[in-house]
Amino acid sequence: MIKIYNTLSKRKEEFVPLKEGKVSMYVCGPTVYNLIHIGNARPMIVFDTVRRYLEHKGYDVTYVSNFTDVDDKIIKKAIEEKTSAQEVSERYIEECKKDMAGMNVRPATVHPRATQEIGGMIEMISTLIDKGYAYAAEDGTVYFRTRKDTQYGKLSHKNLDDLRSGERSLLVSGEDQKEDPLDFVLWKPKKEGEPYWEAPWCQGRPGWHIECSVMAKRYLGPGIDIHAGGEDLIFPHHENEIAQSECCNGVPFARYWMHNAFLNIDNRKMSKSLGNFFTVREISEKYDLQVLRFFMLSAHYRSPLNFSADLMESARAALERLVNAVDNLTFLEGSAQDGPLTAAEEELLAQAAGFTEKFDEAMDDDFNTADAQAVLFDLVRFANTNVSGANTRGFIRAIREEILSLGDILGLILEKKEEVLDADIEALIEERQAARKAKDFARADEIRDRLQEMGIQLLDTREGVKWKRV
Ligand code: AMP
Ligand code: ZN
Repeated sequence: MIKIYNTLSKRKEEFVPLKEGKVSMYVCGPTVYNLIHIGNARPMIVFDTVRRYLEHKGYDVTYVSNFTDVDDKIIKKAIEEKTSAQEVSERYIEECKKDMAGMNVRPATVHPRATQEIGGMIEMISTLIDKGYAYAAEDGTVYFRTRKDTQYGKLSHKNLDDLRSGERSLLVSGEDQKEDPLDFVLWKPKKEGEPYWEAPWCQGRPGWHIECSVMAKRYLGPGIDIHAGGEDLIFPHHENEIAQSECCNGVPFARYWMHNAFLNIDNRKMSKSLGNFFTVREISEKYDLQVLRFFMLSAHYRSPLNFSADLMESARAALERLVNAVDNLTFLEGSAQDGPLTAAEEELLAQAAGFTEKFDEAMDDDFNTADAQAVLFDLVRFANTNVSGANTRGFIRAIREEILSLGDILGLILEKKEEVLDADIEALIEERQAARKAKDFARADEIRDRLQEMGIQLLDTREGVKWKRV
């Protein structure tokens, strides 16, 4: 039984999805105006691991994560660079995808972008106005009528009176047409030189919160299983998402709300605005990004994690121990004898299965990756003690595969990357040409995909097929 700590109830709850065997999951993604920093990478790695574990448990997971591609910071950057907001956001979406691939974060089932969902946002805002939950001010700004939502505050466990006492800070200049300081923006008028869309209230652009409500509904439905993001999103972003979605759709929005704690540096949140950040790209110049992934998973996702060079060094050394152990097993397997497993080996395999059980127990307990990593090391120690060249090939393979599969649930690739030789690549290209000639296009595509996985891009030129490493 999987237990998830739900921010909504402030306790661990048994995970029961809406539809048996299926999980719908929405994770708030980055605003794309720069390279992502390793603080942004924490939710990516954590929730990718949650997805992998749910899949390992047999669930069919639909995972949606957005890119916020219209926002003040993107527009500011575009103006500085004398280019368009679209050019800036597209560039950083591509860069973000490269970083994700390096960290072995799988692409989401869908990566919607705010600018491509404006129609849905206008529709949701119109419904909220029709139902009396929103209103357009004279200048065309549309606000959500926060007080009308009697449940407002249920996620952040704030009540409206607490919020009232802090309302001065909620009064933003230019927003003085609000009926109430607690109201928040759904749509705002365009400013000179900014991208805008036609809407019934004015030419303008959406407020930030509405995009996630719309995308979650479009790709997952009005009620979803898991909604996740960093803990800074609890208020106001997620609180506002709940208000918009539930007042519009009339059904509970997300059953489980998961929030990761911060990645800190010198005990302060790593953030763009404080300037105390490292980009994932910078880290990749010094380390394989698998090390970053290993480091992120070495703490429970709800505990703050402090980044330091020392901790990264220990993560590198620890990961190396796992990779070397697998490499040793690969070597032993290659030279071992085929044949039936001995009774002693059968007995050891039964013992080894206990490690997978322990691993699952740790992950079932609100995805305790720190304990799961510890089990992986226990299994490696078990392998080092119990496996030798005298064992049968099947036994060695089973132990090796168990280590690899537990690693894979954490998104860790524990096999040494093989050096791909030019000659091997050329042989595959020739085989592909032959397959194409024989009209065996399935085989030809398979080879192209395989080459792509090896980081080889094919280029059809007048002089024939050329290739390059990407
Ligand atoms: P942003 O681009 O700032 O909207 O952030 C994208 C995601 O990264 C959100 O889920 C944030 O909560 C998360 N995030 C940003 N900074 C940190 C940090 N230092 N530690 C953990 N998560 C963070
Ligand atoms: Zn969101």
